[in-house]
Amino acid sequence: MVALKNKLKADGLSIERKHSLSFKLLRWVLGAALLVGVALSFMQIAYDVFVTRQLIDSDAKRILSMFKDPSTQAIYSLDQDVGQQVIEGLLQHEAVREAVIGHLGEPDLAFGSRELSILSCRSVTDLFFMPERTYEVALVGGNESEEYYGDLRIVLDTASYGERFLKNSVVILISGILRALLLGLVLYLIYHALLTRPLAKIIRHLGRINPDRPAEYQLPVLSGHEKNELGVWTRKVNQLLASIERNTHLRREAEDSLLLMSQVDFLTGLPNRQELQLQLDKIIDDASDKQHGVAVLCLGLDDFKNINEQHNYQVGDWLLQGMAQRLRKYIGHDGCLARLGGDQFVIVQAGIDEPEQAAALAQNIIDSLKEPLVMTQAYSPEFLSVRLNVTIGITLYPDDGDNTEVLLQQAEQTMQLAKKGARNRYQFFIASIDMEMRKRRRLKKELKDAIASNQLYLVYQPQMSYSTQGIIGVEALLRWQHPELGAVPPDVFIPLAEQSSNIIEIGEWVLEKACQQLRAWNDEGIRELRMAVNLSAAQLHHADLLRVVQEKLTTYNLDAGSLELEITETGLMEDIKAAASNLRGLRRMGVLVAIDDFGTGYSSLSYLKTLSLDKIKIDKSFVQDMLDSEDNAIIVKTIIQLSKSLGMQVIAEGVETLEQERFIIELGCDEGQGYLYSKPASANEISALIRRATG
Ligand code: C2E
Ligand code: CA
Ligand code: CA
Repeated sequence: MVALKNKLKADGLSIERKHSLSFKLLRWVLGAALLVGVALSFMQIAYDVFVTRQLIDSDAKRILSMFKDPSTQAIYSLDQDVGQQVIEGLLQHEAVREAVIGHLGEPDLAFGSRELSILSCRSVTDLFFMPERTYEVALVGGNESEEYYGDLRIVLDTASYGERFLKNSVVILISGILRALLLGLVLYLIYHALLTRPLAKIIRHLGRINPDRPAEYQLPVLSGHEKNELGVWTRKVNQLLASIERNTHLRREAEDSLLLMSQVDFLTGLPNRQELQLQLDKIIDDASDKQHGVAVLCLGLDDFKNINEQHNYQVGDWLLQGMAQRLRKYIGHDGCLARLGGDQFVIVQAGIDEPEQAAALAQNIIDSLKEPLVMTQAYSPEFLSVRLNVTIGITLYPDDGDNTEVLLQQAEQTMQLAKKGARNRYQFFIASIDMEMRKRRRLKKELKDAIASNQLYLVYQPQMSYSTQGIIGVEALLRWQHPELGAVPPDVFIPLAEQSSNIIEIGEWVLEKACQQLRAWNDEGIRELRMAVNLSAAQLHHADLLRVVQEKLTTYNLDAGSLELEITETGLMEDIKAAASNLRGLRRMGVLVAIDDFGTGYSSLSYLKTLSLDKIKIDKSFVQDMLDSEDNAIIVKTIIQLSKSLGMQVIAEGVETLEQERFIIELGCDEGQGYLYSKPASANEISALIRRATG
């Protein structure tokens, strides 16, 4: 209740008592009643004046008629004593102030008088009745001649009448006022009960109405007021609110659709250029916060004008819609798709950290359009199947521009430029990126045939045991000899293979070749040699890994302990569950597992403990800098201590100098690998190396 009152107050709907209708009514009714009461009282008092005057007159007449006969007697007989007795008698009346019996022009026969009575009310009443009033009656003979003897005159003092009149008046006035007040009060109570209280209730209910959803709350019809004006009013208001809500709803819908029309391309339902700019602004803002890149792909349909001319515009529209539908699949959750008008679309994708991701997206789109758009007969008399090609211009945020305007404009320009050359392809705004992307795309494609066309081969890099001072194992490293480009570094082509999941096939091929080579070495009499093979993340999580490894071991009749698989922390973390189950399987088989590039990834110690791995490979970046950088020296030292405490072997990678070797041997490192011992070399070279070493 208090809360509602506060709310009403805040809305200006609460009413202060002094401003309330009841209060106003009370004032007016009381005022009016008082006025009427006083006026009526005064009218009554005025009438009373008249009546009192009449009373004085009739009293005077009565007195005169009472004393007429004795006075006539007295004057007839000229008997002063009798006259004086009559006068005395007259003066017995308290109102008679003066009495005279006499004849005009002769001395009075008898006379009596007294002072005017002194009353405080006189000052008022004399105004109405005069202080005294004189009455006379002619004294005539009783016979038929009616002879005139003289006059009896009395003067009446009006004070006693006045006093009575005044008392009456006060009573009239007071009772009049009281009556008026009482009536006013009763009227007020009736009015309050019938009108102002129900009104106040209605106001409270009005306060509960939500202006945004006015029909949600129905005003209740107050009981007892169902059929009167209040009931009708309430019902009318409810109807009004409902129609307001309906109208608001319609207006909102109209506004929404207007807004939509201003943001959306009518034909495809995609955002238009204005809306795209707003969305891109937002995406760029987000990206700059998260320090991610954004790719803007401007797509232009190739030869759309010709298609339009060949068929009709309806077909053209339908194709644009079909195109929009296809492209929708490529909107990431933090990207957007828009139609710039004509035959141009834009796809924006956030979270792009490598130009390659943008290239992949563009290529996917181009590939998806190889499938023709098929048109049913609803639009055209004949069955239509149209293949659309697109040319895509790509700009990257933040490299090519840091605002919407520039990114969009350059993407459009790049697309137009690309259309002048070969079509149905993508092109980056920056030429160097464009070339790089083009090269990678080519490599990725050609890598697929590299195994079949014998371009891949393995080299081996020895691993030295510091306890025996001999070669204890080799790491198999993959090489690609491209027929035109020459040697392609594994750092370049392995990530490409990983992207296309080509790595599974390549990985298995490496394992096969490495095991085959180990068998060959064993057969040559080089025993006790361990073969380390790099495993990429995809392989580590692959369901087939254990089967493949077991198959190679069996095929080449190898001891499981002579095979070591190198995995990276990053690969491990991608899907630790799948990795853990494969790692347990490998362990059961007896295959060794080493953590490669240790220190560059997560370096989370918990997995080292739980996964019980065999070996840590200190990344070559630490080894190479450890003599110059105190920090790296500490890292190397810590890694060696850590592996000791976990009961793991430790090998240093990238050992190039004797100083480095001495340093790690002093720290207790078990093994080393690096150019100091040998660069990765062919199997024959390794055989020769081992033979030389064992003499
Ligand atoms: P990685 O596994 O860390 O291999 C060690 C890399 O360090 C090799 O480069 C090797 O030539 C190089 N290296 C060895 N000793 C030294 C040294 O003393 N100084 C210097 N500067 N470098 C040294 P490579 O052969 O170019 O291989 C690069 C990466 O490619 C490998 O790094 C590995 O991640 C990947 N890789 C190579 N072969 C395979 C493979 O068969 N499968 C998979 N999944 N990845 C492979
Ligand atoms: Ca390795
Ligand atoms: Ca490494």
